[in-house]
Amino acid sequence: AKRVVLASRPVGEPKPSDFRIEDYTAPPPGDGQVLLRTIWLSLDPYMRGRMNDGPSYAAPVPVGGVMEGGTVAEVIASNNPGFAKGDIVLSRAGWQTHALSDGKGLAKIDPKLAPVSTAVGVLGMPGLTAYTGLLEIGKPQAGETVVVAAASGAVGSAVGQIAKIKGARAIGIAGGKDKCDYVKNELGFDDCLDHRDPDLAAKLKDACPKGIDVYFENVGGAVFEAVFPLLNTFARVPVCGLIAHYNDTEATVPKWAASMMRAVLTKRLTIRGFIVGDFAARHGDFLRDMSGWVREGKVKYKEFVTDGLDSAPAAFMGLLKGANFGKQLVRVGPD
Ligand code: NDP
Repeated sequence: AKRVVLASRPVGEPKPSDFRIEDYTAPPPGDGQVLLRTIWLSLDPYMRGRMNDGPSYAAPVPVGGVMEGGTVAEVIASNNPGFAKGDIVLSRAGWQTHALSDGKGLAKIDPKLAPVSTAVGVLGMPGLTAYTGLLEIGKPQAGETVVVAAASGAVGSAVGQIAKIKGARAIGIAGGKDKCDYVKNELGFDDCLDHRDPDLAAKLKDACPKGIDVYFENVGGAVFEAVFPLLNTFARVPVCGLIAHYNDTEATVPKWAASMMRAVLTKRLTIRGFIVGDFAARHGDFLRDMSGWVREGKVKYKEFVTDGLDSAPAAFMGLLKGANFGKQLVRVGPD
């Protein structure tokens, strides 16, 4: 068996030497345990935060510890009456080919309902993030304008498509022409702009002639600066992620912080951060709605797959820079 551990805490961008691939012998399951074989490992931006020490909403991965992560796995041996050999489960086994579990926190996946990889994608954590952040905080109304960046990614792609289902206009922001073409032509957003375009702010203004009612914040940085002046009175900003800042080494207070707070006041903006688990109570509604939309072709999704556990560190470093085109997955073992 193999696992990827955190070799050192990155300073700025993670580098290959911050990860270490180790061989180990997977032990047989003890009383009440199951042995899992990983099929899919999900790579997600939050993992960058887990590599840092210091206070956050979740504990860091210890140096030398297995990198955290959601997986889709097969039960290959079971001493737990709740699980049989051959069951496919959603687990948090992390970056490893095999893992023991006492069954707590495992959820069975029905392979007949959808490709099992969707349990960590459109029908899993990223899908739930898009659904709850947009509908519980963003509350898009018909005819309103919704803007989201990382628009071809796991969360952003779902945000824009759900906005369209709710009758809003969806404007995406993504890195490069291929991603923008996909967001417009395949996902059906009304427009999509490249965040590396030096004219982003002016083009965004043209694309949002009636201003912005909902900005689903995934990135921060230059995108936020282009969006902020266009926010309408009573606009809502679900703050989901700030990927442009995950490798920052120092916190900076921009000169315009005070004018931003003035706009929050005068425009009565709602800016609210959330973590997907905050809305766990909506999980049933999410699964019903999202699986229906996927079945009807109203929500499309794209997966970006690299092969073998060894590919995980490079794929993760790529994810932070936009090398992925769709939900980033590692195929650790055969389906
Ligand atoms: P994606 O599949 O969207 O992949 C990340 C994307 O971020 C890259 O492909 C890249 O797309 C974009 N990106 C990276 N750097 C920048 C930058 N400087 N400016 C603009 N875009 C950038 O990942 P997810 O869909 O999984 O996650 C999207 C966001 O949602 C992240 O911020 C993540 O942390 C957050 N999140 C938050 C959760 C919560 O509970 N609050 C749960 C899940 C995700 P491109 O090439 O288009 O620039």
